[in-house]
Amino acid sequence: MPEGLNKDLRKMISDHADLKALTVKDIITASDGTRKILFSLEDASVIETVVIPSARGRTTVCVSSQVGCAMNCQFCFTGRMGLRKHLSTAEIVEQAVFARKLFSDEFGSITNVVFMGMGEPLHNVDNVIKASSIMVDEQGLQFSPRKVTVSTSGLVPEIKRFLNESNCDLAVRNWIMPINRRYNLSTLLGTLREELRLRPKSIVLFEYVMLAGVNDSTDDAKRLMELVHGIPCKINLISFNPHSGSQFKPTPDESIIEFRNMLIQSGLTVMVRLSRGDDQMAACGQLGAPGDYQLPLLRVPEKFQVAL
Ligand code: SF4
Repeated sequence: MPEGLNKDLRKMISDHADLKALTVKDIITASDGTRKILFSLEDASVIETVVIPSARGRTTVCVSSQVGCAMNCQFCFTGRMGLRKHLSTAEIVEQAVFARKLFSDEFGSITNVVFMGMGEPLHNVDNVIKASSIMVDEQGLQFSPRKVTVSTSGLVPEIKRFLNESNCDLAVRNWIMPINRRYNLSTLLGTLREELRLRPKSIVLFEYVMLAGVNDSTDDAKRLMELVHGIPCKINLISFNPHSGSQFKPTPDESIIEFRNMLIQSGLTVMVRLSRGDDQMAACGQLGAPGDYQLPLLRVPEKFQVAL
């Protein structure tokens, strides 16, 4: 219970609220300054949160929304864990509160929040919508809605719900993900086209994880331009971060830049996210500890075997 509250208020809080806190278990510093915070939950499970400072004065906290993840995306270490449980609204918000408390002196204010840590945020949609609204509320953490981005692997019904109920930004990653079997790419893109037409000010961020020999050719760039045609969007090219057991190789940085230039020439807005914190398993797709039980890697389609 916080200090300085009067007796009646303390009683009212303890009668009506559950005050559970995350406990910092460890903080690991990568060679580029990225920090990975390991938090223990009440039941002793561990989640990971990453704080990423940048030279441009922007500091981003990447929060987790689940312990593990059910989606088993083939480029992602967290996916190997399977889903252990959803995080509560409080457990999600508190990661950003801790990031501010621990690092604001060193990095300046935390400017951005991304839901790109452990878990598929829209699989835990109730708590994620509540947590993101607390993050942008005047009485909450007061982030700008344009600085809070929820990332999904493509859960189509939950995307519609999120766009209806939240004013935060949406990012979509959709490739080599078993969820594509349920909601294929054309359903996903059709839904985004339709929903964003109703919200002329909204845009979506497509996160494109670049895998050597799999999706990084000139033809792939052309295909990507065609796929996103007519959708108000930005593209984020993400460099693949290898982990033990991963089947893919990263596209070299110079090829990522060539790919980016092709997209820019077609009029798209493109950002590149090169690896941050990868020497400490703090980079995108590297969080978590699968342990002995792991979800299986899927068979790689014939046409991509040559790239492995
Ligand atoms: S990329 Fe996201 S949705 Fe996919 S397995 Fe990893 S944590 Fe889950």
